[in-house]
Formats: sequence, structure tokens, C-alpha cells
Amino acid sequence: MNVYFDNAATTPLDPAVFEAMKPYLLEHYGNPSSIHTHGRKVRTALEQARKKVADLLNVTPGEIFFTSGGTEADNTAIRCSIRDKGVKHLISSKIEHHAVTHTLEAKEKEGVKISYVNLSGDGEVDYDHLEDLLKNNSNSMVSLMHANNEIGNLLDLKRVGDLCETYGAIFHSDTVQSMAHYVHDLSQLKLDFAVGSAHKFHGPKGIGFLYINHEMKINPFIHGGAQERNMRGGTENVCGIVGLAKAMEIAYGEMEAHRKHIENLKKRTIEKLRASIDGVGFNGLSDDLDKSLYTVLNICLPPSEDNDMLLFNLDINGISVSGGSACTSGSNIGSHVLAELDRDQSRGAIRFSFSKYNTEEEVDYAVEKLASLYQGQTIPA
Ligand code: PLP
Repeated sequence: MNVYFDNAATTPLDPAVFEAMKPYLLEHYGNPSSIHTHGRKVRTALEQARKKVADLLNVTPGEIFFTSGGTEADNTAIRCSIRDKGVKHLISSKIEHHAVTHTLEAKEKEGVKISYVNLSGDGEVDYDHLEDLLKNNSNSMVSLMHANNEIGNLLDLKRVGDLCETYGAIFHSDTVQSMAHYVHDLSQLKLDFAVGSAHKFHGPKGIGFLYINHEMKINPFIHGGAQERNMRGGTENVCGIVGLAKAMEIAYGEMEAHRKHIENLKKRTIEKLRASIDGVGFNGLSDDLDKSLYTVLNICLPPSEDNDMLLFNLDINGISVSGGSACTSGSNIGSHVLAELDRDQSRGAIRFSFSKYNTEEEVDYAVEKLASLYQGQTIPA
């Protein structure tokens, strides 16, 4: 059996998305900036895609800017706010995606003050500490992700948006993992920047978008031509943009059914793991269905000398999942997220992340294999 449980890394393309993209690879090849018929046809498709995304998020098309993906969108939001909006202080967390943490580290070297909000042992944001940081620092920007890609923890976007409004701070949220998995009414949330990446919701890779609230005026991040209303130079990835909008439309149309299906798979995995591996646990809040992204489950295995081999052995058995041991033995390739949690760092960690295409049979197979591989290992006395 071949099982793909690494959907937080990327999702398979929906064949209907591929069909929607095909004409923009083969027939409609004009440059959308060209004013002749070939160009205008493509321009129309591009603007329809923008309108679709905007409608789904309940914002205006002028607030959606297509980018090469989540990383570029995060960089644009943070770097342009510092450069153009007088941000002197950034508040973030130690468990953000590297698209944010590495950007912040680079800005810190240039003299920007960075504060990290306290987290509970499970990685939950301490909202009182966040308020203190906002109260005691002017010209702040908050960058906190909505759904953590490793442990699934969800942020209360409304609460953070209200705090940012109270203290006059800019609010950016890396919404890559939750975009098109939840309905985001961006007209209601007090977000200045939100982010989407198509390959996390069955769209193509290398295309995403940045939502910029209309009151937030920034200058271009990538200089070049007049594309994206002068905000992002470079000929648009038209087939990617068409695919992104189609993938988002499908995701919104089927969201409740898919959510139910995926939640059921997650619950089944938790129950079966508890029944088959003594001492199994879950990292962060990932086994709390109300407080975590329904697609992600981060499994915490009792210590074993062979835990590092588990991913490899699962792979041999046709199961693709992702790992994330904390930084140990001087190695720097561990998970910076797990390292921040209050957990026994010698325990193994495996992330299962599900999609609409996964089945109960796959869950049963993967859990059975994981349990038998784990039980065959050397467990320290
Ligand atoms: N932010 C989060 C939370 C992610 O999970 C990812 C992708 O793994 C990114 C940002 C980067 O997105 P992209 O691959 O589109 O650059």
C-alpha cells in the first residue's frame, strides 16, 4: 500500500484544478500585460481568478496580490512593514515557520527589535504576555501564524486582531496552513496581512498570494514591471493563478464534507494509536480537535534508540510522513518547534498530515505498521 500522510508539506493536485490550468499552458499563452487579443484574454482570466479569491475571503480584488508562494508573501509583509510603515519592534513566536523566523533573524541583525511571546508547554500563545509586549512597545508589528504546520496549534485571530487594534500595531498572520481549510472572513478579522499558498490546498506549487488590507499602503517588495498594480514586478504565473483560484473554489465548495472526513481520520488515528502503543502521546495541542488544525497530528513516541530509523522504515513500507526530532546531540537539523515545547526531547516525533484523498484503510495500515515497527525496536530499560 502507498500512503501519503504529508499533506502539510504539500498536497496532491486536484485533477479538476489541472484541467482548469491546461488551457493557460497550451492555448492561452499571451502575456497578460500585452494589450492585443492574446494578452487581453489572459488578463481577463487573471482578474477573474483574483476576484474569485477576493470573494471567498470577503475582501476586494484590489487587496489580493499574487506571489510565488507563502514564503514571498511572508517576506513582503514583514520587510515592507519595517521599511515603509515605521515598524521598530516585531512580536512573534519561536514556533513560526522559517519563512517568518529567518526573516526576523535577518532583520534583527539590521537592528530591528524582536520580542518573542511566551508559550505554554504545549506551544499555546500567552495572550496576556502578548498584551504586555504591545502595551510596552510602540510602533509594533505582530507576526503570529494561524495554524502551526508542525503541531497544528490554532491562534485566536480575532483576539490578537483586537489587541493589535487597541495598541495600534500592525497584524500579519501566516495563514498558509489554514487557508482554504477554514472560512476566513477577512473583512471581519482585524488583519493587515494574510497569506495563501496553493499547494497546501490541492493547487499547484510556486503560486500564492498576499492579502493586504486596503488601509495598509506599502511599496513594492520586488521591483520590476507594473504587474500586480505596480506592487510585484514579474510576468504573472497565469496557469498557477488560475489553478490557485480553482483549487480555492473547490475547497470552499466542499469544505464541510472534507473537514468531517479528515477529522474522522484524525480521530481514528488517535484512538488506534492509543490502543496499540503504550505511552503514546501527541505533541502540542494536535490531539485537541477544537484547538488544532484538523489536518495535522503530531505523534510523540516513547523513547527508543531506534526512533530515528522509524521514518526510514515507514518509507520502506510505502508510508510517507514527516519527522521532527528536537535538536539533540549537537545536531542542528531538529525541529525548532518541538524544541520549544515542554516535552521529553528524547521521545520520537512523527507528523501525520491528512487530506481529502486519504482513507480509513490507509490510517489502519499506517498505524498497524507504525505499531509493529515501534514494538520491534530496542526500548531502553
Ligand atoms: N508558512 C507555513 C506555515 C508553511 O507551512 C509553509 C510551507 O511549508 C510556508 C509558509 C511557505 O510556503 P511556500 O512553500 O508557498 O513558500
